[in-house]
Amino acid sequence: MEATHDFIDNLNWGAYRLVGFTVSLCQLTSALYFAKIIKQKNPKLITAVGGSSFSGDTAKNAIKLFPQIDVIITGEGELPLSRLIDYLYRNNQSRDLPAIQGVFTKNGAQTQKRRYPFFQMDTLERLPIPDYDDYFNLLNSFHPQKSFFPALPVEISRGCWWKPVTRSGKAAGCAFCNLNLQWSGYRSKKPSQVVSEIDSLTTKYRALSVAIVDNVLPQTTSKEIFEKLGKLKKDLRLFSEIRAKVPLAELNAMRAAGMQEVQIGIEALSTSLLKKLHKGTTAIQNLEIMKNCEALGIANISNLILHFPGSNQQEVTETVHNIEFALPYRPLKAVDFWLGLESPVWQNPGAYGIKAVFNHPYWGYLFPAAIIKSIPFMIQAYRGDLGYQKKIWRPIKQKVKEWQDIYHELFNSSSPSPILSFRDGRDFLMIRQRRFRTEPMTHRLKGTSRSIYLFCQHHRSLKRIRSQFPSFPEDKIVAFLKMMVDKKLMFVENEKYLSLAIPLNPERYT
Ligand code: SF4
Repeated sequence: MEATHDFIDNLNWGAYRLVGFTVSLCQLTSALYFAKIIKQKNPKLITAVGGSSFSGDTAKNAIKLFPQIDVIITGEGELPLSRLIDYLYRNNQSRDLPAIQGVFTKNGAQTQKRRYPFFQMDTLERLPIPDYDDYFNLLNSFHPQKSFFPALPVEISRGCWWKPVTRSGKAAGCAFCNLNLQWSGYRSKKPSQVVSEIDSLTTKYRALSVAIVDNVLPQTTSKEIFEKLGKLKKDLRLFSEIRAKVPLAELNAMRAAGMQEVQIGIEALSTSLLKKLHKGTTAIQNLEIMKNCEALGIANISNLILHFPGSNQQEVTETVHNIEFALPYRPLKAVDFWLGLESPVWQNPGAYGIKAVFNHPYWGYLFPAAIIKSIPFMIQAYRGDLGYQKKIWRPIKQKVKEWQDIYHELFNSSSPSPILSFRDGRDFLMIRQRRFRTEPMTHRLKGTSRSIYLFCQHHRSLKRIRSQFPSFPEDKIVAFLKMMVDKKLMFVENEKYLSLAIPLNPERYT
């Protein structure tokens, strides 16, 4: 509070006509407070807000309810904001605001061509490199003991190519996701643009940590981007969100470029539940990418969603079973499902057994009832099967806790090494299986057994394995695979098999 008032009191607001706030979830109340105080002191100042908290229907009502806000920009800001600034620049004395698509004003001036009045760039190619000078100048003014080295946010793309929001504004991607309400379609920068942007920013700000802020990386150019980044010869430390189907070769390029941490769209370890989540993935694919990250030393900080409405006992049982096979890999974080405004679940609640949706009651701690009644907030609540969901998912919380304890104890040991790994002896294979508070086990595979195990480093169907090893009798193949699964050295799902041990030399198995 004191810092806010110091900041406000120390600026000559009379020198400005427009002040803007970008509001994601956590800045909402502070931005409203800030705008209110500035407006009280400088009634002529035009206050504008935008950002994900003002996506969709929220903007329409918020403009009427918050007197301190003059303008709400919905969707991405570049074009509407530049039009607004251009207008104010040309009309120096005017208090009237023009009708600009993507801009809500008090007098209702707004061109709404469709439900979401986006006014967005066709391409990201003309975007300049972001200017973080103010931020770094402030950071550099800190006492050395209070200073830190932040990650530079970099944007490669906007939107999501995985079932993007339709032109009518209907969300169609992952069932829980409402990340893409502020734009339509998917646009990405060219690899050369991304690489030169990262090179320039890291050079200019003398920083090597880069957080890629995309919802989803480009499908066709991602590998090229990371290969080019690797050639910069900078020891970058990258973070990105990625989809579970990213192939090993692409992960390798990411690692070589400096990818150290990823959030993968895992969300579930039950294929039937993944289908309900519209993830377009399976449990075996999730295990495979978890294994690949483990092998490459990329920290996987992904979530396991609990309490998803409409999930059932069989899916929870499948999750418990599959976690047993995921124990050698970095544990997932158990997170409770929350209902996002305008997500596919929110738009079609009946399909998930939901009877009513409304603002989450926690908003009541922040806003008066009249506002809560009028504005749909980003975090919603619902009436449905939550009691049942909490009951059936209880064992998973316990299981994930055990998983974390096992993983961390094995990794914090005096000789940390992969929990399940193999070394290849060219015609035999040694698999080392470290175990919780007991001696490790070693398994040796020879000849065709070794070859099958290596072949299934990427998941393979039984049919494919049989055709790859035609001289090996089918019953022997099946018996071998069963033995491997019983020992938790392989995972099976719908007659598809995945070897679980990670190579100690991953470069040889890409
Ligand atoms: S969770 Fe990710 S992949 Fe799924 S719809 Fe949202 S942005 Fe797209």
